[in-house]
Amino acid sequence: MPELPEVESLAAFLCTHAVGHAVARADAASFSVLKTFDPPLTALTGHVIAEVGRHGKFLDLSTDQGLHLIMHLARAGWLRWREDLPTAPPKPGKSPLAFRLRLDDGSGFDLTEQGTKKRLAVYLVRDPAAVPGVATLGPDPLAADFTLDTLVGLLAGRRMQIKGVLRDQSIIAGIGNAYSDEVLHVAKMSPFKIAASMTLDEMATLYDAIKTTLTEAVERSAGLAAADLKGEKKSGLRVHGRAGQECPVCGDTIKEVSFADSALQYCPTCQTGGKPLADRRLSRLLK
Ligand SMILES: [Zn+2]
Repeated sequence: MPELPEVESLAAFLCTHAVGHAVARADAASFSVLKTFDPPLTALTGHVIAEVGRHGKFLDLSTDQGLHLIMHLARAGWLRWREDLPTAPPKPGKSPLAFRLRLDDGSGFDLTEQGTKKRLAVYLVRDPAAVPGVATLGPDPLAADFTLDTLVGLLAGRRMQIKGVLRDQSIIAGIGNAYSDEVLHVAKMSPFKIAASMTLDEMATLYDAIKTTLTEAVERSAGLAAADLKGEKKSGLRVHGRAGQECPVCGDTIKEVSFADSALQYCPTCQTGGKPLADRRLSRLLK
């Protein structure tokens, strides 16, 4: 799933490729992908892309006439840039193609989504705050005004495991399952640690880990073509998705805790004093 660093890089990529071009046409290839109906997608035709930005994990293409095309790629979605898009609108069907935007020079992009769970979402709005997921976003961790005090304020009194806090878009915007694993590994912190129990020193360590992990990921993917971002994300991760492999810091075996629809990975030596975390799903299966 694209998280803050990948969406940031996609936005930068689209800035250089799409800004200044007029929209030739925009088409949804499935009924479920477009979450808004007013204005209709045809309203985009002729608008010039003025800016490309990001709200958390949402991409925002804004036009010279004040419309915002907001896209959330969800877990299995991706953006494919093409220099020469077909002129015919996409046919609805079983293909992974969800949405297509074609520009005046024939270039543009497809949004695709693998798998059967279709969660990729596109919104066409006059104000980004009209998108519910954008309106409720917490502060952006890469913003200059996201200080240690900001983080302390977000964690204080919160009786929640830190892994859940980092992933909650309404608390902090843009961090998902992968980068929360990475941040906690860098901070040498258990994903099950309760936010409200953290000392100021621990919060400062976590703050540094958030800033460095995300900044480095953005720097690694800067300048990469949209097509190369996925591979870069995977190769840059230290623990996420690497259960059974060696921790790059201490050499211990990276372990995993599974949940209903996700899993987290961590290094016991670096993060939990060598003790494996309870995997409730696993122990339930063993009973
Ligand atoms: Zn380790």
